[in-house]
Amino acid sequence: MNKKILLIEDEVKLARFVELELKYEGYDVTVCHDGRVGFDEFQKNEYDLILLDLMLPGLNGIEICRRIRKQSEIPIIMLTAKDEVIDKVAGLDSGADDYMTKPFAIEELLARMRVALKRVRPEAVQKNVYTCGDLTLDADKHLVKVDEDTIDLTKKEYDLLLYLLKSKNIVLSREQILNQVWGYNYIGETNVVDVYVRYLRSKIDEPYNKKFIHTIRGVGYYIKDEEQE
Ligand code: CA
Repeated sequence: MNKKILLIEDEVKLARFVELELKYEGYDVTVCHDGRVGFDEFQKNEYDLILLDLMLPGLNGIEICRRIRKQSEIPIIMLTAKDEVIDKVAGLDSGADDYMTKPFAIEELLARMRVALKRVRPEAVQKNVYTCGDLTLDADKHLVKVDEDTIDLTKKEYDLLLYLLKSKNIVLSREQILNQVWGYNYIGETNVVDVYVRYLRSKIDEPYNKKFIHTIRGVGYYIKDEEQE
């Protein structure tokens, strides 16, 4: 199996050059020219390594790195411009494995990629973690956090949040939520869903001035990453 590389770089010519070189070396390469699109791509698909530019439209490299590290130990190599020395430190602080200063020799990038790909960090691999912006649900530890605060949830609130997070960005009808969280045999008011969404909002949205859970009037609910704009 070819190793899958996600390249997030807004300099189109450089990105194209690196993409072609990596493909020639036998890597599968996906290129994104925008930080937000790149982060979404990371969340949607499995990758073996990320090449991450620092200054990006949408979301910058530091922020992307920070977010990725909340859920994955995938190797990340930062690509920085020559005059971004201070940011380089911030890059490593945010969890990058290595960095390359542009312009770089492709052979050096390839060599560093091989090293990064070999590094095994099994202890840090967390598969059962769901995130939405600053909201994290660790299903192994049964732990919910917003920023660094641990959130106390009842069993049903937790199940509801887990279901919403597993279906992130997908609108769920009240019936779907009811069937999934309360079970097909549930007998009672369907507005129990609205009631529990309200409970959840009072614990994760309102105290943090955020809006994780969205309502589609007449349809249902969904959870999505907070807009950064
Ligand atoms: Ca850039």
